This record gives sequence, structure tokens and C-alpha cells, in this order.
Amino acid sequence: MSTTTSIESNTFQNLKLIEPILKALKDANYETPTPIQSSAIPLILAQHDFLGIAQTGTGKTAAFLLPILDLMYRNPTPRVSKCPKVLILTPTRELAIQIHQSLHVYGKYLKQKYSVIFGGVGQGNQVKDLAAGTDVLVATPGRLLDLIGQRFLRLDQVETFVLDEADRMLDMGFFKDIKKVIPMLPPKRHNLFFSATMPAEISKLADTILRNPQKIEVTPPSTTVERIRQTVMFVDKKDKMNLLVRVLGLSEFKKVLVFVEMKHGANRVVEKLQKNGIGAAAIHGNKSQNARQKALEDFTKNRIQVLVATDIASRGIDIDQISHVINFELSHVVENYVHRIGRTARAGKEGQSLIFCDAEEKSFLKAIEKETKQTIEVVTEHPYHSQEVMESQVVSLGRAKARVEKKRQDFRQRRSR
Ligand code: AMP
Repeated sequence: MSTTTSIESNTFQNLKLIEPILKALKDANYETPTPIQSSAIPLILAQHDFLGIAQTGTGKTAAFLLPILDLMYRNPTPRVSKCPKVLILTPTRELAIQIHQSLHVYGKYLKQKYSVIFGGVGQGNQVKDLAAGTDVLVATPGRLLDLIGQRFLRLDQVETFVLDEADRMLDMGFFKDIKKVIPMLPPKRHNLFFSATMPAEISKLADTILRNPQKIEVTPPSTTVERIRQTVMFVDKKDKMNLLVRVLGLSEFKKVLVFVEMKHGANRVVEKLQKNGIGAAAIHGNKSQNARQKALEDFTKNRIQVLVATDIASRGIDIDQISHVINFELSHVVENYVHRIGRTARAGKEGQSLIFCDAEEKSFLKAIEKETKQTIEVVTEHPYHSQEVMESQVVSLGRAKARVEKKRQDFRQRRSR
């Protein structure tokens, strides 16, 4: 595998993209390519297989969509019913919808057709759309296999295959599905592979898919994280809700994403906020697709101040101008924390993140500081500050994790009774 250092190109013109794409980028107010775009676009245009180690927030979507659209324009082939030419696999419906929307933004002056399929909604319209023929298909793995099984879709004409957020696919249990998809693709194809992290399993998968890839790594955790003012407030668990209502009353908390660990917790927080007259909605896996879309739209359009989310549901949500990310509960997975706070400070802007840390979460806080090599600023000037929590002993990470796991199990058991 060869590694290429980034070739800095400061304009999209320098990247030699076709005029209709440059025009669309101008309409979207994109002035300068992000580092992954400067590096990836020339390599993908030269039809290299590509491995990008990058997460959302780096501009990676445009890094693969722009050259794909460009190549399709330069090498046109006829559209065939049920047989897309480009397949983009992505783990969540939200990401699928966002990539599809981005196709319409970047490709609005092109004549290609862009389609999206995902589960949780009826398949009728998706089937009709595929039957009419499409050029670029964005899909989540489950619905893709489902429609292939019903013969509404074939992958034997795919020229370009993009696997997006591979590590998230692994987390969400989609590996088996991906391994079923690969043999359905033609052996000769152009492959693009993106993942925020490269654990051994992902690396192995990349080896089976990619041929002689060019590899680019961008490290947004440091660059993004540096632009985020990270703070922690020590608070008793029972006071967290009051603290939340209090901070949300501050005028600078305009558009706030609140993270909780469990789905039922998200609903509870939303109910309490609404009782306090604060516009809020939740997104998590138990909500219908329509409810999730509505919540996202209300939040994007500033009809509600707060979106309460779980990690999986929030993955990849790309909403501009989130002023604050609040960790109402702290994840015991450091990577989740980095992803959470990366929802603010998008595309070069600055952001602020807060952690509401109770005594049980202190070991997670310590793990975050250790892994991100940053000290998180402690804010004590608030009415619910707990000196006791601040000074309490930190239990070992292993014990704290086991406690979280036990709580989850107990909850599941209570539910199933
Ligand atoms: P992504 O990493 O693909 O999720 O993109 C993150 C955000 O950055 C999205 O809102 C994009 O619309 C935006 N974006 C991507 N590339 C650029 C660019 N070159 N200039 C301005 N905004 C961009």
C-alpha cells in the first residue's frame, strides 16, 4: 500500500474539476478544498483505488463525490434499469440521506440521476426509482440486500464502489452484510474506502476490497478538537436536569445537541425540557424514520433549540452552526466523545462542548483526557457545582464500564418482563 503526502491545491479550479461542478461548488459557497479534498480528488480522478482515513467534518463526502461525478461526466455510459453504476454504502439512514442531498448539491448541473435507499420506510418508491434506472445509488446495507434478494436491483454494472464509515459499519454489525455485497460486484471496479479509524478488522476488509490503493490520512480529532472549547461541570446525577435547563436559558446556547447514553433517557430529557418551555426533540433508533427526519429538520431550521441524541442515531449528522454539544451523560467509549464534540466546529467554525460529569463518570473523563492528550477545562461557576463529585475518588475504568454494562442489562431485563 503506498502512502501519498497531501498535495496542497488551494482552489477547486486547480483540481481540474469540470465546469458544471465548479459552478455548483460556487453556488454552495465552497471556496477552498479541505485537506482531504486536495489530496483525494486528483488521485480518484486518476482512477486509483483509494483509502481515506477520515471522519465526518473533514469534507470527505465531497472528496469522493466530486471526482465520481466528474468521471461519470467524462465517461458517460447508458443508464440501465435496476443497475446503478456507482454504489455508495453507508451505515445509517441519516448519512444516506445526507450523501444523496450532497449529490444534488454538487451534481445539480449534471444530467445524472441520484437515488437513495434505506430501511424503516416502505420500499415502493425506492423500487420504482430503481426500475427507472439510476446512475448513483446511496444505500444502507440491509435495504440494499433486501431489494437485491427481491430482484429489484443488481450490482453487476457497478463501476465504482464506495464504502463509507467502515468502522461504524463494524460497530453496527453490518460486516456480514458487506461481505455478502462484495462478491455481487464486478471484479473489475474502482474502489473507495473510508473509515475514521483503522482497527485490524477494518484493515483486513480494506485489503480484500482495494487494489493497490493510495492512502490518505487526515486527523480531524486533533484539528477539529482544537477548535472546540471543551469544558466539564461536576454535578450530582440528580441535578443534571436542572443544570441543563439552566444552561439552555443562556442566550449563547442557540443550537444545542445533547447526548445521552440510552434511548429511553433521550425521551425523558425531551419531556422535561418541553415542560420547561424549551423546544426539543429526540433522535434515536426506536423512532420512526419520519419522526427522525422531522426532528432533524426542526433542528436544522431552528424551530427547536435542542436535539437530544444517542451516539448511533447521531452518527454523521451534519448540521451547521451547532453552538454547543452537551454530554448529558458521558460515553465510556472515548471515540464516541470525539465524534460527539465533532458535531460542533464544523467546516472550520468554532464550537463549545460541555460535559455534565457525575461521580460515576469520572473515570470516563480521565480516559478521554488521556487519549485525546488534552486537559478539559473545569467550570465551577454554576449553581449545581458539586465539590464532592469533583473531589471524589476515580474508580478504575474497567469497574466503571462493568457498572454501565450491568445497568444496561438490568434495564433490558426489566423491559422484557
Ligand atoms: P463531511 O466531512 O463530508 O461530512 O462535510 C462536513 C461539512 O463541511 C459539510 O457541511 C459540507 O457541506 C462542508 N464542506 C465540505 N467541504 C467543504 C469546502 N471545501 N468548503 C466549505 N464547506 C465544505
